[in-house]
Amino acid sequence: MPKTVNQSIKPLNTTRNNLGNLEISGCDTVELARKYGTPLYVMDEVTLRQIAKEYKNAFSSYKKTNMMYASKALMTSQIAKILHEEGFGFDVVSGGEIYTIHNAKVDMNFATFNGNNKTKDEIETALKLNIGRISVDNFLEVKMLDEEAKKQNKIQKILLRITPGIECHTHKYIQTGHLDSKFGFDLTQIDEVINLIKNECSNLEIKGLHAHIGSQIFETKVYYDEIGVLIKELKRINTTHNLNLDEINAGGGLGITYIATDCPPSVDTIANTIITSIKDHCKKYDVEEPVLYIEPGRSIVGTAGVTLYTIGSNKQVPNGRKYIAVDGGMADNPRPSMYEAKYYAEIANYKNNKNMEKVTVAGRFCESGDILIKDIELNDPRTGDILCVYNTGAYGYSMSSNYNRVLKPAMILVNNSQSDIIIKRETYEQLVQNDVLK
Ligand SMILES: *Cc1c(COP(=O)(O)O)cnc(C)c1O
Repeated sequence: MPKTVNQSIKPLNTTRNNLGNLEISGCDTVELARKYGTPLYVMDEVTLRQIAKEYKNAFSSYKKTNMMYASKALMTSQIAKILHEEGFGFDVVSGGEIYTIHNAKVDMNFATFNGNNKTKDEIETALKLNIGRISVDNFLEVKMLDEEAKKQNKIQKILLRITPGIECHTHKYIQTGHLDSKFGFDLTQIDEVINLIKNECSNLEIKGLHAHIGSQIFETKVYYDEIGVLIKELKRINTTHNLNLDEINAGGGLGITYIATDCPPSVDTIANTIITSIKDHCKKYDVEEPVLYIEPGRSIVGTAGVTLYTIGSNKQVPNGRKYIAVDGGMADNPRPSMYEAKYYAEIANYKNNKNMEKVTVAGRFCESGDILIKDIELNDPRTGDILCVYNTGAYGYSMSSNYNRVLKPAMILVNNSQSDIIIKRETYEQLVQNDVLK
């Protein structure tokens, strides 16, 4: 049964090789762990490029689509380069992300700057680099942005971030489109912000509206409804204010398959829902079909990534759980401790027996909450084994920290039996390089 990338738990070419070891795109994961050390982030280039192509194809019938990869899911220079090659622009949310994509020689005109509290410095940099769109979140930002645009003698194109009032059934920390949200303007504030811009901000040009309803979404209806809200509001604004806004940005949020019971829609299904909703609502409200932006993050990089760990201590609590501890945890993947995210994992090295055992995978960090996977069946997990945790490409490295002064792992890219380092493992020297002794 052919599944699309976001419906698969594992990277596309994951198999057991003739040694019985787990292999991804021709690279033996046990060999990778030996060569590069653990913990190790592994990104499969084949899976990454495949999902990028799935998105392109899925939206190909709607010619006015712009794909903007949401950098916050995972941003490194090489990832920027690959997705740029695949025709993606970028959604960025900080000076650091702007710097990285600029450094990777990405066309800044094909980037959108999002965020609910952009700093003056970040706005200045974004404008200097001629960023394509800024999604404006609040009244303070409108003023700061116009001031900076005047200073630089530029007309900056903007979108207005709105809260469409749509709740999706995902964890409350990753819902963003409900009414009492820290993101964007409430629909009741839109007239006020537009009047402010029309009357006082001559260096801003409103191009359209932006919304993002949440993350790890499995429903299609919320997208259909979100597009409806965007187009209805676009029409209302154009009529009320005699404007000609013709862009909508639907955000990201498509879910991926972390564990077998997750069932996200395919990229095709989401694309069809969005395109159908645009056509339906444009007809209903008599609006010309707008330029569409979409900003997938998790679904682009999630499935392509796995993390390899080495199993250390192995502890049976009397009358309790059996814990196996790995050499990483909440600092390289904070999602389980932040919002009880679930993951699937396998022992990567060959086992000549099949002895499935229910264990809990603990991290090495000094927090009781540092549990990577609660109650998973693993085949005979022992000290020294390599554990492969799937679906760690999104919001793993990008949320990682140096908690406990543990070094951030390396990241490698695999393709066609080749592996290359794309992020070096941190060193102790780097850990103290910003420390000042006096
Ligand atoms: C986080 C975010 C995205 C990406 O969300 P995913 O769930 O990773 O696809 C897109 N747009 C905006 C504005 C975001 O904040």
